[in-house]
Amino acid sequence: MKRTFTCIVCPNGCEIDAEYEGANVLSVTGNLCPKGKAYVTQELVDPRRTIASSIRVEGGTLPLTSVRLTSAIPKDRIFDVMKEINAQSVAAPTHIGDVVIRDVLGLGSDVIITKNVDRA
Ligand code: SF4
Repeated sequence: MKRTFTCIVCPNGCEIDAEYEGANVLSVTGNLCPKGKAYVTQELVDPRRTIASSIRVEGGTLPLTSVRLTSAIPKDRIFDVMKEINAQSVAAPTHIGDVVIRDVLGLGSDVIITKNVDRA
């Protein structure tokens, strides 16, 4: 089979034309480095994504703070994890690196804060 992938490993965003059978990548063109082939293989076997979002802050100088996952999760679990994140709120102050949800849904990734918000 043939398919074009957009590698998201780095900001170059290479458009990679891949030929494959099942999870076996036969050839790739368009990738600027070997990570592109590894990315295509990962996409075929176990596609993963990270999430950057925001959560409510109680009693802060801002109503929201930003969060992200510490590692990529299976693509088909993004909706479930977003529900968990949306159900959360934290009390000000917030600090970069604070863990909001440890091992979210048992997926091996933490939700951490990426923006400081002071107490109002
Ligand atoms: S193939 Fe290499 S250079 Fe291209 S986006 Fe992926 S990691 Fe970046």
